[in-house]
Amino acid sequence: MESSLLELATPGVQGLQPYAPGKPLSELEREYGIRNAVKLASNENPLGPSPAVLEALRAEFDNLARYPDGNGFELKAALSGKLGMDPGCITLGNGSNDVLELVARAFLTPQSSAVFSAHAFAVYPIVTQAIGAHGRVVPAHDGSRGPRFGHDLESMLKAITHDTRVVFVANPNNPTGTWADRSSLRHFVERVPESVIVVIDEAYFEYVEDADYPNAVHWVREFPNLLVTRTFSKAYGLAALRVGYGVSQSAVADILNRVRQPFNVNSFSQAAAVAALQDITHLAESVRINRDGMRQLEQGLDALKLEYIPSVGNFISVDVGRDPDRVYEALLREGVIVRPVDNYGMPGYLRVSIGLPEENQRFLESLKQVLS
Ligand code: PMP
Repeated sequence: MESSLLELATPGVQGLQPYAPGKPLSELEREYGIRNAVKLASNENPLGPSPAVLEALRAEFDNLARYPDGNGFELKAALSGKLGMDPGCITLGNGSNDVLELVARAFLTPQSSAVFSAHAFAVYPIVTQAIGAHGRVVPAHDGSRGPRFGHDLESMLKAITHDTRVVFVANPNNPTGTWADRSSLRHFVERVPESVIVVIDEAYFEYVEDADYPNAVHWVREFPNLLVTRTFSKAYGLAALRVGYGVSQSAVADILNRVRQPFNVNSFSQAAAVAALQDITHLAESVRINRDGMRQLEQGLDALKLEYIPSVGNFISVDVGRDPDRVYEALLREGVIVRPVDNYGMPGYLRVSIGLPEENQRFLESLKQVLS
């Protein structure tokens, strides 16, 4: 780009690297002429959405000329019933990414800072830097006092200073799949000053089955500075529709609402999310497929003698050795799309989303071939 044009951008934006999404299947077809490829690159639900979602979408075609409900009444009511929280505590977003960005826009300035972990979800540094705020990156556990690559909550707490307004915690984190247990996360939240918004990002909440995994929504009533974000993109299989939400006390929701675009979640997405919430059988099946697929991948990676980071999400990051880019490219040529994570400071690793059993098998066989 013309350097003079770049100088017109705000200082934060000048240094920004755009988010690198997983390669779409259509792009692989276009660039490599490969058909029947499998995409295990964006932590999507390989089952797709509930059939009830398709029906809800069809009904929405009659309302195409109308703006969506800017307040998301039906969806908030459905979430309110499910979560046991007042609708006024819910902020709907165009994906949970939207809610993360609202937090940055509402609470950060070039004079303030946000704290997050190394290897944490890429959107935290992006939304922080877009504002020109300082991102304070806290080294992750090295494996001696907590899970390797996992958030070091004690050090994150120490990194909070007088200028910190937001701390982002991904539980579980992407792309590491690591998580914080109930007592350590609770102890953390209790000690964060009330002048700092604590964002607990639970994008993969529905997948986690460990008894010590906390539901941070249960803490929202106690902590005025807590915001929990979730999404319909993962276990509910609605990634294309971009719908997520935040749960906080209404005071925080009111602030986020001031910077929210009036119609940030479209009518199709709202209707689909309501239908998805009701189909708990489909959700349970999605979680089961993920559990089985995770076991299948772990066993396959064990057999290949590859190290991976134990994950509770719908993805797993695996150490493929010194040249992950070569492995990534070679897998592409086999028609398998995974996700490079070098931008996350995890050299040697590739992230693989859990697919259907045959997709997982195809990945394992291709990986074996590529590495041999
Ligand atoms: N948080 C985490 C940890 C994620 O991995 C993702 C998706 N990659 C998101 C938030 C955002 O997802 P969405 O905007 O689709 O809700």
